Amino acid sequence: MSKAKGKLEVIEKYCKGCSICVEFCPTKVLAMDAFTVKVANPDACIACMQCELRCPDFAIKVEKIA
Ligand code: SF4
Ligand code: SF4
Repeated sequence: MSKAKGKLEVIEKYCKGCSICVEFCPTKVLAMDAFTVKVANPDACIACMQCELRCPDFAIKVEKIA
C-alpha cells in the first residue's frame, strides 16, 4: 500500500499568518513567509488534513492524491 499524499492549495487572501497550520503539520510541510504561510516541502505531505481542519480561516485545502 502506498502512502497517502496531499496536494495543497493556500488561499492567500484568507490567510492571516497565525501559523497554527505550521505548528500542527506533523511532517513540516508548511512554513511562514512573512505574513502568509507557504508550502515549503510539498513532497512531505501525508494528507493528514490537520492544516485544513485547524486553520481558523479556511485558508488551506488539501486534496488527497494516490
Ligand atoms: S492556520 Fe490558516 S490562517 Fe493560520 S497561517 Fe495557516 S493558513 Fe494561514
Ligand atoms: S495535510 Fe497534514 S501533512 Fe499535509 S500539509 Fe497539512 S498538516 Fe501537513
